Amino acid sequence: MATHTHSTAAILSIGDELTLGQKLDTNAQWLSSQLSNRGVVPRVHITLADGLEDLTERIKDLAKTHDLVVMTGGLGPTADDLTRLALANAMGNELVEDAEALAALIARFERAGRTMAEANKVQALRPVNAQCLPNPMGTAPGLHATIGSSDVYCLPGPPRENRPMFENHLLPKLRPERLVLTRVLPTVGVGESTVADLLGDLMSRDRNPLVGTTASSSVVSVRMRYEGSDETEGQRLLDETEAEVRRIIGEHVFANQDQSLAKTVVELMIEQDKTLATVESCTGGMIGQEITDIPGSSAAYVGGFVTYTNQMKIEQVGVSQHSLNEHGAVSREVCLEMALGGQERSGADYSVSVTGIAGPGGGTEEKPVGTVWIGLVGPDGKEDVRRFMFAGDRSLIRSRSATMALAMLWGMLAGKPRIELFWESAD
Ligand code: ATP
Ligand code: MG
Repeated sequence: MATHTHSTAAILSIGDELTLGQKLDTNAQWLSSQLSNRGVVPRVHITLADGLEDLTERIKDLAKTHDLVVMTGGLGPTADDLTRLALANAMGNELVEDAEALAALIARFERAGRTMAEANKVQALRPVNAQCLPNPMGTAPGLHATIGSSDVYCLPGPPRENRPMFENHLLPKLRPERLVLTRVLPTVGVGESTVADLLGDLMSRDRNPLVGTTASSSVVSVRMRYEGSDETEGQRLLDETEAEVRRIIGEHVFANQDQSLAKTVVELMIEQDKTLATVESCTGGMIGQEITDIPGSSAAYVGGFVTYTNQMKIEQVGVSQHSLNEHGAVSREVCLEMALGGQERSGADYSVSVTGIAGPGGGTEEKPVGTVWIGLVGPDGKEDVRRFMFAGDRSLIRSRSATMALAMLWGMLAGKPRIELFWESAD
């Protein structure tokens, strides 16, 4: 390990599948956010096709100009996996077999009851002066080397392998020059520009902690970042800033860390020992999917009805033919009947329903594409039915509907006074 601090970093992603557009380079993003949250600034992302000379030159160049180089990919057993050799060339080293890595590789194949192909043996090779980094999730060990004053890490391509390796091998060795402390408050129900307006001077660029926002599928997260040298002072300043942010938009904050609305909803349901059913038309099961993405959701989620046609709305959750005739499937009345029917037939405490027009066809003057009703019923006759007018294409309308359904659910579970949500429209 080089002994100086890590101030700058470079991320080098390797593989034809990335440069040819078959896979998205998500490693660069994940690694960069991990590093920058800890005060090490990534300055460049490079994505390179498989090719020995180019790769060797890039490693040399990047090591000259950055304290830390993190590479992913190209550590597999096949001929196009050239990272080991490129690193050796960049270091001016020979490749040697690493006895421990080979033993681990053989043991891994034995555990799986398979015989190791001869080709896999190359995965135990390393440049003479590099160390192998064990990879409990896969066959390819990682590598660490020092070139000049730069620390160079090679991690396997698959995120499920490289993320734990980053955490286990790289993080403990990271020497950031500055201390960085961050906090995130996710909010729902206000647009990003409104949040910016409300926060005003808090978002000025010369402030420390710096306050910024990011938006992703209708959730606007307020991010606070302290840079300095004093942990106690940093935490105190973050406490102050957080209190200020909460004073301004606290009612929209649904968690005190970076997490999804679905997770918050599941946590609240489990805490309150309550259950949920879903009745989905235009979202076709998306709410159920978001909920069941959360580990442990089976303690709260009983299941869902996907009632796309009128017939299914009638048969599955007892919507009345009368309401369908009088008001249409996309209406307050039908939406409420869906929620109530789901609650009754499933026996769940809460039931959330969605019916709307996601387009591109099916809109009318009275009910244009983007018109979505979301209904929610809870214990003690609690009811909340709202109309939304979503902008965007079919997929955006559907995902926004799912998010708003979760937002309404959160509001009711958290005992909030009625929060006006973005895209809501009076009927
Ligand atoms: P393996 O032993 O699995 O072959 P490897 O280190 O050789 O590991 P690659 O062959 O380069 O890794 O990539 C394996 C898979 O990892 C790719 O098919 C892709 O799914 C994923 N992957 C690779 N690089 C990236 C990246 N930058 N971002 C996201 N996924 C990636
Ligand atoms: Mg490979």
